[in-house]
Amino acid sequence: MANMRCAITNCKMTSYNKPPGVTFHPCPTSQEMRNKWLLLLKNKCTLLDWNRTKICSRHFENKYFDSQRRLSQYAVPTLFQQTVKIMKDASDSSPKTRIDKLLSRQSQAELIMGVKGAMSQLEEPENVNAYVMDNLKCRSDAPQDVQMWLLAKKQDHLITKLIDQISQHKKHVEVLQKKMNETRSSKKEMEQNVESLKYIVKCLQEKHTTLEEQIEILTAVESR
Ligand SMILES: [Zn+2]
Repeated sequence: MANMRCAITNCKMTSYNKPPGVTFHPCPTSQEMRNKWLLLLKNKCTLLDWNRTKICSRHFENKYFDSQRRLSQYAVPTLFQQTVKIMKDASDSSPKTRIDKLLSRQSQAELIMGVKGAMSQLEEPENVNAYVMDNLKCRSDAPQDVQMWLLAKKQDHLITKLIDQISQHKKHVEVLQKKMNETRSSKKEMEQNVESLKYIVKCLQEKHTTLEEQIEILTAVESR
């Protein structure tokens, strides 16, 4: 198979580097669909050759594929940010500066303590209320210390909310675990009940035997 490459600018997909599942699709043949593609691809690819250009499956929404991953003849490419976004995400998560590297080594608890500690020492700048509007944005003439203070305050609230959420999740997990343990112990109880029932039956059987034996003995004694 000849090397195919996606015609979308910024998309580096080729038949050699593509992950499994990514497919290449030719352009539509009908004039109506070609017009639609032309509008959408106007600034998205440098060359559009209806007979040769291929677009990779990353640019089509899932709804355009059938269960066999065949592209509908009415499909139009609409997703163009993906590749750029993935690259951006990757660069976001990989630490770049020395501070980023140091921060990535800190534990969650250390980071939270650091932020909380810093917040408790941060003094509220003067006239905060005059500079911060009801939508929690700073007025354009707000001094930088007010802007930074507001940002820190927002982050502090965000952290508090996230910690709350985590502790609620933990509680949910605890409740679930407790229920699981209860189910387990009631199962054990049931098993114990079955055991004691078995024991009673055994005793009854023994008693029954004894009775039979007694009758036997009695009959034997009587027939003498
Ligand atoms: Zn592509």
